[in-house]
Amino acid sequence: MEVIEGIADLKRERRHLKEPVGFVPTMGYLHEGHMSLVRRAKKENSTAIVSIFVNPTQFGPKEDLDKYPRDVPRDLEMLEKAGAEIVFTPMAQEIYPEGFCTWVDVEKVTENLEGAHRPGHFRGVATVVAKLFNLVEPTRAYFGQKDAQQVVVIKRMVGDLNMGTSIVVCPTIREWDGLAMSSRNSYLSIQERRAAPVLYRSLLLGRKLWEQGERNPDDIRKEMAGLIEKEPLASVSYISVADPETLAEIDTIKGKALVSLAVNIGKTRLIDNITLGE
Ligand code: AMP
Repeated sequence: MEVIEGIADLKRERRHLKEPVGFVPTMGYLHEGHMSLVRRAKKENSTAIVSIFVNPTQFGPKEDLDKYPRDVPRDLEMLEKAGAEIVFTPMAQEIYPEGFCTWVDVEKVTENLEGAHRPGHFRGVATVVAKLFNLVEPTRAYFGQKDAQQVVVIKRMVGDLNMGTSIVVCPTIREWDGLAMSSRNSYLSIQERRAAPVLYRSLLLGRKLWEQGERNPDDIRKEMAGLIEKEPLASVSYISVADPETLAEIDTIKGKALVSLAVNIGKTRLIDNITLGE
């Protein structure tokens, strides 16, 4: 496995790689969710490239950029074991040199959900992913369904800008009690960790209501919110029942629906989702 920090080195190395190339962009502090993407990239391609970059432009001024968990030595050990060929660990100064002023702004699908609560977040995500795609030139890139809106935004960007990379979406990997794996779970205290599965439990309640024939998103949201409110450490940021492609809120569920939510557990903001009708 080769660890590359510089853009020039990556570009030089890229010319000699065996095609197809699978790419997994991450912010590091890797867990089984990330590793499921890496294993899939390995399986479906001749070369697997993973990037570790805590992208400053996708964090709001009051968000957790400074305290975002980092452990690159441990990440590298995990990636070596998984058989990744190349790990790209650029410095922020090289990704965003002085004078940087070009941004990728995906409209409409960034207006709701996380986009509404984290202004500028998806501009940062789309810009860094576009830059990484230009550098890595992947055949396929692997993203987790855990970040459902991110998948929609990246697919839209790739389509709209005629990028040549296929986007592969991988299922959400969960802890034994249903909590979606996330680097941010490391912020949780023992009590908060015990409370955190309430996100998944409320999603399962939403699914159960739908299975029983409920098609009114207001009623589903109300029941889900009621369950979360019973947990004293949890407070709802939003609960959404949306069209999985446009992310517009649905009046009556007819076909597929993306049920997604963000909940603060103490000071930690967690997100999760499931799709109905799949
Ligand atoms: P991050 O390091 O949080 O930017 O995540 C890097 C990639 O891993 C993104 O495509 C995420 O959607 C994906 N990912 C994060 N957590 C999970 C999970 N629990 N299951 C599947 N994919 C995940």
